[in-house]
Amino acid sequence: MRITTLLRKLIGIQSLIVLRVWIHGGALHAEVKPAWRKPRCSGCGARKRSGPVATEKRQWRHLDVCGVALYLRYDLRRVYCSSCGTIVEAVPWATDPRGRFTDEFDELAAFLAQRCDKTSVHRLMRVAWRTVGRCISRMVKRLRPPNPLEGLEAIGVDEVSYRKHHHYLTLVTNHANHRVVWGKKGRNAKTLGAFFDELGAEGRAEIAFVTADLSAAYMKAIREAVPHAELIFDRFHVQQLVGAAVDETRREEWRRLRGTPDGKAMKKSRWALLKNPVNLTEAESAKLAAVQGDNRRLYRAYLLKEQFRDILDRRQHNVVRRLLRRWLGWAARSRLPAFVKVARTIRRHLDGIVAYVRWRFTNSPHEGMNNKVRLVTRRAYGFHAAEAVLAMIELCCTGLAVAPPLKVLS
Ligand SMILES: [Zn+2]
Repeated sequence: MRITTLLRKLIGIQSLIVLRVWIHGGALHAEVKPAWRKPRCSGCGARKRSGPVATEKRQWRHLDVCGVALYLRYDLRRVYCSSCGTIVEAVPWATDPRGRFTDEFDELAAFLAQRCDKTSVHRLMRVAWRTVGRCISRMVKRLRPPNPLEGLEAIGVDEVSYRKHHHYLTLVTNHANHRVVWGKKGRNAKTLGAFFDELGAEGRAEIAFVTADLSAAYMKAIREAVPHAELIFDRFHVQQLVGAAVDETRREEWRRLRGTPDGKAMKKSRWALLKNPVNLTEAESAKLAAVQGDNRRLYRAYLLKEQFRDILDRRQHNVVRRLLRRWLGWAARSRLPAFVKVARTIRRHLDGIVAYVRWRFTNSPHEGMNNKVRLVTRRAYGFHAAEAVLAMIELCCTGLAVAPPLKVLS
């Protein structure tokens, strides 16, 4: 068997011919060409009768052979197409002929990125992590279902930070399957507005429930685009606000009592105050008991937080509305500035908070998706472009099936 025949079989891509093989710089290089004679347009796939306008030398990294890097080389022809203009020809080994990697290389990089940590992928593939990001973007583009926004009824809107908390993405999740269906850089009304634009009038009419945090920007976009939908404030975002009010009260008390024995007793009380009581350690329970004895203001804040959570655990929305009203009165009279403020916010958003009890849709971190998105986003540090981070989220959180490019010789 000739070496070119063997390599063609190993590469195993239909309509690819190997002309020549050589070793250079520790890697294997193969001169290849498409099996078809007439160039095809990479835009529309049409065969071109006219000859090439020009050529450009190109090289694509392919899967390793026995652990040795393999590069495919070919002079890409530029052709004139009546519908696409002057364009490079299509090649059987790369959907994006101007990318520097073959489709199978992208496939393997995406398969690994879906499952392994950053270091393993970049060591095994021998490319920079940022390059892996570009492989993923191409792969996701190829695998994306034609209408990911079809049939949405209940959606969750959330923001997630990337690149160490300086940049934000807006993500839309389908509550029916907990999958991310859309994402874009930014977190203002315009960002979310772009989603509703893409959804189209018909898609917007089908949206019945939207869960979101209390961000005014998102609310504005939701109210404008789907005024008929039930707006539900995410329970955990609302509880976070109340938790933050406890923390603010604690800091305030700490400033007031610093240097006194009461101040000393407050030390390390933070988690005891913020955690769900069933999760408290023995030491934290003791701390909490001490706060109860020593600092009535802080303990009042704690009780307000706990009562708020208990109310939201209830099932009847009418009861919850009544209890929340009572809670709001208590918070407003608590003489704790942080709670007076949070009560005002909650009063303004009462309908959307009660709606949670009625419909029980939530962007809950306990559903797993939020945590997964955050983990994936953290792994995507090092991808600078928002597009690459979004592609990583799409790869890992939308249920895309990526198969490793394995084959059997024939
Ligand atoms: Zn064309």
